[in-house]
Amino acid sequence: MTQDAPEPAGLRVLVVEDDESIAAALVRGLGRAGYLAEAAGTGAQALEADARSAADVVLLDLGLPDVDGLEVCRALRARGDAAIIVVTARGEEPERVAALDSGADDYLVKPFGYAELFARIRAVLRRMQPSTRETVRHGRLVIDPRSHRVSVEGREVALTPREFDILECLALDPGRVVSRQEILERAWDAHWYGPTKVIDVHVVSLRRKLGDPTLIETVYGKGFRLGDPR
Ligand code: CA
Repeated sequence: MTQDAPEPAGLRVLVVEDDESIAAALVRGLGRAGYLAEAAGTGAQALEADARSAADVVLLDLGLPDVDGLEVCRALRARGDAAIIVVTARGEEPERVAALDSGADDYLVKPFGYAELFARIRAVLRRMQPSTRETVRHGRLVIDPRSHRVSVEGREVALTPREFDILECLALDPGRVVSRQEILERAWDAHWYGPTKVIDVHVVSLRRKLGDPTLIETVYGKGFRLGDPR
């Protein structure tokens, strides 16, 4: 099991953007990255394109010529399970909030670069991966993602949801160092821009509950990893 998002190859991205030059550039960039991208210039075209071949990810500019982008967002959300990333202008927080409330999975603020675009796409795809998660055994530690149960040497440990998420995040790829930022993105939400130190408090409590401080190692300046199984 790894923490990787699915490979871009074969994933369909629908770019909903009425500015043709921006749309064309996005389609080109996504194509170079391996995605199957197509553009729609209006809300109606977007819904039509999605009906023709269901998109995995929809990049949705909210400022459309025909209908309110939020309506398109709600319609897409009602009909399928595409990941929806809305694109908004800087400073339009109420619009971003409304978009998230209308079923968007994430948002991008214009102007944005390809690196951020690809990272957001990877993040929404990771979050959407079906929970075919199996029980993880790491030495004396057993984590059951389905029942949210954790035990150490057969002794059940009661964790808060956040502690569980942090532990699961580390256990998905035991031994790998997971950065604080990555933990924040997976166990908090992608919109946390506060200090990553917030994790440390939970890790301290997690170690105490697990009863063995060596189960979670701090890798100085890098993050955390699960300790070697014993
Ligand atoms: Ca627009």
